[in-house]
Amino acid sequence: MIHEILPVGRLQCNCSIIADQNTHEAMVIDPGDDIGDIQAILQKHGVRVKQIVITHAHIDHVGGAMKLRAATGAPILLNQKDHALLKMLDMQAAWLGMSSPDEVEVDRTLSDADKVEAGALVANVMHTPGHTEGSICLYFPAEQKLIAGDTLFAGSIGRTDLPGGSFDKIIRSLHQKVLSLPDETIVVPGHGPLTTIGDERETNPFLQKR
Ligand SMILES: [Zn+2]
Repeated sequence: MIHEILPVGRLQCNCSIIADQNTHEAMVIDPGDDIGDIQAILQKHGVRVKQIVITHAHIDHVGGAMKLRAATGAPILLNQKDHALLKMLDMQAAWLGMSSPDEVEVDRTLSDADKVEAGALVANVMHTPGHTEGSICLYFPAEQKLIAGDTLFAGSIGRTDLPGGSFDKIIRSLHQKVLSLPDETIVVPGHGPLTTIGDERETNPFLQKR
């Protein structure tokens, strides 16, 4: 498995470039910005993007998706429940003092238990509402790796005070779905350093039994 993690944009969203070195097929997860740098990594490995997967429709995760689609022809995949947030990209840009990106078109809707693939690499889609209504995590069972979006961070969890956020829902998603994964699972959060399910289960203050 080729897996490069590139922090992109001003908010340093962790963009994942995942590829099968045998078939040269790749998926890009959360191309928030810096599409030129993402393309340089794709080129370095000689891989072709088959899918652009968005963990949730915040501008720092989806801002570069249309540019990457235009450059590669790959479809954009997102959970349906974040379509409303996509319509608010202008407002999100204004909050952050950024220029508005192009309107994002979704090519395929991702639901809980769907699979996304790059060559022989397969990820299960986990719908994990809370940070946003349509937030998803991607779990690669063979590699024991979780792309967590902004649902789980090292030592913290995603904020729930933005439109569509719910503290109760994110806690439920974490306990019912994310923490059901094995302790060895490597977690790639939407921002900041990597962690593991075991470390977060033990030390994350939001996940301790009350
Ligand atoms: Zn977010």
